[in-house]
Amino acid sequence: MPALPASTRVPDGLEDVASGVIEQLPQTRAWLEDLVRIPSISDVPAHAEDCRRSAEQTARLLTEAGLEDVRLLEVEGAHPYVTGSWLGAGPDAPTVLLYAHHDVQPAATAERWSSPPFEPTERDGRLYGRGAADDKAGILAHVAAIRAWTTTRGGPPVNVKVIVEGEEEVGSPHLGEFLAAHAGDLDADVIVLTDLVNWKVGWPGLTWSLRGMAEAYVTVRALQRPVHSGMWGGAVPDALTGLLRLLASLHDEHGEVAVAGFDDDVRELTPAERGRLEELGEDPAAMRDEVGMLDGVDFLGDGRHGLLEQIWFRPSITPVGIDAPAIAEASNTLLARADAKLSLRLAPGQDPDRVLATLRDHLEAHVPFGLQVEMTSGQANPAWVTEPAGPAWEAAEAAMAAAYGRAPAALGCGGSIPFAEPFSEAFGGAPCLLVGIEDPGSNAHGEDESLHLEDFTKACLTEAFLLEELGRRLR
Ligand SMILES: [Zn+2]
Repeated sequence: MPALPASTRVPDGLEDVASGVIEQLPQTRAWLEDLVRIPSISDVPAHAEDCRRSAEQTARLLTEAGLEDVRLLEVEGAHPYVTGSWLGAGPDAPTVLLYAHHDVQPAATAERWSSPPFEPTERDGRLYGRGAADDKAGILAHVAAIRAWTTTRGGPPVNVKVIVEGEEEVGSPHLGEFLAAHAGDLDADVIVLTDLVNWKVGWPGLTWSLRGMAEAYVTVRALQRPVHSGMWGGAVPDALTGLLRLLASLHDEHGEVAVAGFDDDVRELTPAERGRLEELGEDPAAMRDEVGMLDGVDFLGDGRHGLLEQIWFRPSITPVGIDAPAIAEASNTLLARADAKLSLRLAPGQDPDRVLATLRDHLEAHVPFGLQVEMTSGQANPAWVTEPAGPAWEAAEAAMAAAYGRAPAALGCGGSIPFAEPFSEAFGGAPCLLVGIEDPGSNAHGEDESLHLEDFTKACLTEAFLLEELGRRLR
């Protein structure tokens, strides 16, 4: 039988609920592992059936937790959303919408994982597997909290609605349609998104800003068809060299984006926002360690902005894929066509369409040798920023302080959750609480993704306590 973490300070009167979370942990963990075994990769059409299976499995878990009216909600072309609710706290109690997503990133370089990505494996207090942290642990934190309240008290002290999305990792392309069709049923006083990163292991985080994102696809064409590199190389240009020169032109020698006008609409941080970053302090050595930077590899930037500002409040461009022959299949030819996918991260204040237009202008102006270049854009959404204050924020601070035994850090995040802004807006500006479930070592989206198991216990306790805090403070 698992024990309460030593640092947890259970709030007075919640001893039974905390015990419920702890007693049910082995089942919670087993359900998490079941979900991790399903490769619900939303970006790969061949995994559409797995995305459906993970939605169905998620629906079973929500039912086990005590939710009613659990359903798969379908939007044409989207992987299923899962929703459920329990409104037994009555019309005078606040309603909390809990969010997570059941889709995952591809495992990509599966051969470089230390254990198979879709076979959950425990090592040194961490559970390894794709989605173990991002964000199947978020689903189970919701399930654990609701179930503990259901089994000990008959239900939570607030009305609860849960939405588990199936296309977060591809930028939520159908969110607008989903919102138009179902926002009325999901209406809530506060939204809790358990899909963020804590500051450190054992040190929780509440996030008050997210960068936006945009995707761009670049195609460079040089020839009607590939031709012999021996016969023509040296005089006739090839598409891959052109693409590589073009990609290299996107950054200056410091790694700063070199696209004219790219950061024109970045808004300055307010003194209060800057103060929050200073309070956190920067530890470049720890950051190097967390991301696994190799000896001698430098951070990017020309020194005008600190590291936290660079990753949370400055825009960036990163090539994330190139279509060109793999080395094993490469013949000695000049390539007719080469493609790249670019991942853009956007700072608060930036308009995704304007930023993408500056990129298109840059590509057209910098393509070498008169090659043909074409850019198309994919998903895009702006940044999100909130004021870290008010009763909902304080409720989350109190719940985290109790579960972890230390107050949460107020954090920015360089990633994006397209769900936050439109749903908050649809509910009349309802506050969004972005709660940590990963830690900086979780390596979400990368190889050997993992969940810190003791912090997972604390995250489940946080949610159980948060429901009580919100019920008291928002009533
Ligand atoms: Zn996520």
